[in-house]
Amino acid sequence: MSFGARALIRLGAIRDNFQTIKERSHGARMMAVIKANAYGHGLLPVARCLAGADCFAVARLGEAADLREAGIDTPIALPGGVFSETDLGKALDLELQLGVHTESQLAWLEQFGQADATIWLKIDTGMNRLGFPPHDAPTLIDRLQNCSAVGDLRVMTHLANADNVQDDTTALQIGQFRKIVDAFDGHISIANSAGILGWEKDLDVFAEHRSNGRLWVRPGLALYGISPLADQCGADLGLRPAMRFESRLIAIKALGKGETVGYGGTWRSGRDTVLGIVAAGYGDGYSRFIPAGSPVLVNDRRVKIAGLVSMDLTAVDLGPAATEQIGDPVLLWGDELPVEEVAKHAGTIPYQLVCGITNREESVYED
Ligand SMILES: *Cc1c(COP(=O)(O)O)cnc(C)c1O
Repeated sequence: MSFGARALIRLGAIRDNFQTIKERSHGARMMAVIKANAYGHGLLPVARCLAGADCFAVARLGEAADLREAGIDTPIALPGGVFSETDLGKALDLELQLGVHTESQLAWLEQFGQADATIWLKIDTGMNRLGFPPHDAPTLIDRLQNCSAVGDLRVMTHLANADNVQDDTTALQIGQFRKIVDAFDGHISIANSAGILGWEKDLDVFAEHRSNGRLWVRPGLALYGISPLADQCGADLGLRPAMRFESRLIAIKALGKGETVGYGGTWRSGRDTVLGIVAAGYGDGYSRFIPAGSPVLVNDRRVKIAGLVSMDLTAVDLGPAATEQIGDPVLLWGDELPVEEVAKHAGTIPYQLVCGITNREESVYED
């Protein structure tokens, strides 16, 4: 029996989510986003279980190199591209598809000489992060199509507000992107998880691209069974959460009314009660921003955190009638306690919680 927080990852859930997303994408090609250690779920195990993906996307050259070193020969894209000229050579050696969003990335490619690179020209349709302005698209497409290093030119953009299905930014971005790619006969990509699941109908404007195999979707979060849409959980969208972040009680003690708990004595008990001490803390990736009052499940029973999360430990108020024992299981997040809900308590997004697990205890995998 393991004490200490660790993640149980169900690869079967990731595979099921992949199929669900594929169906909701109506035949678009699947670029599975597995950056940041597959959102905390483990880069290589996830890549191996997603053998059906048409391409993987990661954010850093090192992540792509790890995939290649492990023998993964699926196409791999770095949508953010490379950050230096030296890395361009390395990336093309690894046969990576590269995003291009700055004049310097473009210049490195133009100076590279002969190659057969697949390049994703990134257009900024409203995220205002990476990408060239839409009005430059025709000139850039022309330049890249005439660049001897480029074998296959593609065009992409990224949605800023797709998680909010009431917000009209997404429709504007889709309209903007549509104009850019109307006269373009290569591959294109626009939707992340929220785009796929929240804007299914709107994306029908790309039906023609889709039916001739030129539309790509880029799901990340939804692969892991987590909802990309605000105020919904993965299960509401037909997804299965892939991660269970679990631990155990390692101490149980009586606490008198008026006594405080933890560093700084920030929490005071309003009653005589029983405290459980969970072997989980921010050193495991159980964030200190998860405040007192947030739920955890002890033996499938919802209880609340008392005091601040510390590095290795978190106290929970088991209540005066507690019958728990040392060693009893604690669920920090997982099926019965969605990470979306925990994130809301912490004032953050589920992405940050799952990415943040530290693997102090190595994750366990099951099918
Ligand atoms: C991270 C990322 C995605 C995946 O986003 P999700 O919201 O996790 O689906 C897609 N495209 C790009 C460019 C990204 O950086």
